[in-house]
Amino acid sequence: MSEKLSKTEAEWRKELTPEQYQVLREKGTERAFTGCYWDTKTPGVYRCAGCGEPLFSADAKFDSGCGWPSFDRPLVEDKIDEHRDRSFGMLRTEVTCGRCGGHLGHVFPDGPKPTGLRYCINSVSLKLEPEEGNRPGE
Ligand code: FE
Repeated sequence: MSEKLSKTEAEWRKELTPEQYQVLREKGTERAFTGCYWDTKTPGVYRCAGCGEPLFSADAKFDSGCGWPSFDRPLVEDKIDEHRDRSFGMLRTEVTCGRCGGHLGHVFPDGPKPTGLRYCINSVSLKLEPEEGNRPGE
């Protein structure tokens, strides 16, 4: 398991953009269909925008139609933490980066088989590292 990364909120505020801070540290949600990755099909690995930990493979990404990048499984199970979230009068499962604790989004039980899961993740919480040959300029 990776080492936990802990930073003060002041440090995070300095490192992250205001949009990243609002989602990763304050559990905000970007508006559907506005993030930079909801429709991305480029092969590669999605890393945590807070700490750089690899979290999802583009292989696990599917077109959910919900307006946020959706994955049917994490890259490595124990790199993502789950929490019960009762905000907004709903019972949901929040997912956070196992390394830095940054808010990523939620996981829902309505994904495709075989996992049946939909990790609905904010684009702003992710940074895509395109596979070799898919990087701009190659
Ligand atoms: Fe992280």
